[in-house]
Amino acid sequence: MKKLIDKFCETKKLNKDELHALLEISHKDREYLSQRAREISIKTFGNKIYLRGLIEISCFCKNDCYYCGLRRSNKNAERYRLTPEEILSCADKGHELGFRTFVLQGGEDAWYTDDIVCSIVEKIKTKYDDCAVTLSLGEKSYESYKRYYDSGADRYLLRHETADEAHYSKLHPSEMSLDNRKRCLYDLKEIGYQVGCGIMVGSPWQTEATIYEDIRFMKDLRPHMIGIGPFIHHKDTPFAEFENGSTYTTLVLLSILRIMFPKVLLPATTALGTADPMGREKGILAGANVLMPNLSPVSVRKKYSLYDNKICTGEEAAECKNCLERRINSIGYEVDSSRGDYPDFRREKHERN
Ligand code: SAH
Ligand code: SF4
Repeated sequence: MKKLIDKFCETKKLNKDELHALLEISHKDREYLSQRAREISIKTFGNKIYLRGLIEISCFCKNDCYYCGLRRSNKNAERYRLTPEEILSCADKGHELGFRTFVLQGGEDAWYTDDIVCSIVEKIKTKYDDCAVTLSLGEKSYESYKRYYDSGADRYLLRHETADEAHYSKLHPSEMSLDNRKRCLYDLKEIGYQVGCGIMVGSPWQTEATIYEDIRFMKDLRPHMIGIGPFIHHKDTPFAEFENGSTYTTLVLLSILRIMFPKVLLPATTALGTADPMGREKGILAGANVLMPNLSPVSVRKKYSLYDNKICTGEEAAECKNCLERRINSIGYEVDSSRGDYPDFRREKHERN
């Protein structure tokens, strides 16, 4: 196994059998995989972890993804949306706490017209020109993405969820399509965003074959960020009875992705921290280099319920940040409070123009 891992680190390539072997890896060998991935992360980012302030702007969603607690058919969901003023005040608080990236995430909520989104982005960017704004607002047209970008948005997160057509159609109703998801990601790249894709690990009907497709897709897209976390069931969804994804496999995949994409921005996600109380620390030690503490007002946190038992729903932003900083320090890492762009991004942008 050590040989396989060494070869993988050299070639950054995996065939199906090698992926199979890694997904079945023993605890002892995983230690080695983790160590190799961690070394790569440290070589690129040092012992620094980027923090992103997450603002969950709305839990209204027009979509009906089978796995998600915000799906429109969930009649038990308590819905809220933040006003532009509330979003700005979260950013104010975040800036004061030292955050230099704000992630505005939400369900696909038509209340936020393009004009409104653009005006929020512009206001944040004008007030805080040392900050990056990341959007994660779902599937939009090329024109909408372009308008957000022209207003100053820097990055966009849109997990592809799975790159396998048949698997995609088991996770989503027929009105949603993998083709459109991919179209969005390629549009975002073309426009000039730093782009993030990703998957839930252990989503229902995920197999080694679908994960292999995910990796192939990522190689083609060449994302700047990859968000992965375990699938965690939500009691009021059609997937309520499905088992949660495994922390172990998530950690293995984090290491695989770090080795394949040495410079990619790779968060240790809240879902990982929900599945395992030490999940985020373990994620960093497996090669992740980003954490996304919550900046949403405490009054709405519980309502942004993508999955059951989500952590960090009770603390104020400052407590959240301090808690994460302590956790980072406890494993020998430090917070980096810069914008934390993708390492080659400026050059890449220059080359494109
Ligand atoms: N509406 C936007 C952003 C919010 S959802 C979008 O769908 O892109 C953000 C992410 O949460 C999704 O991409 C999905 O991967 C993750 N998610 C949703 N339900 C989940 C669950 N039950 N377990 C783990 N992650 C989940
Ligand atoms: Fe809406 Fe995103 Fe949840 Fe799908 S995953 S239902 S698009 S919030």
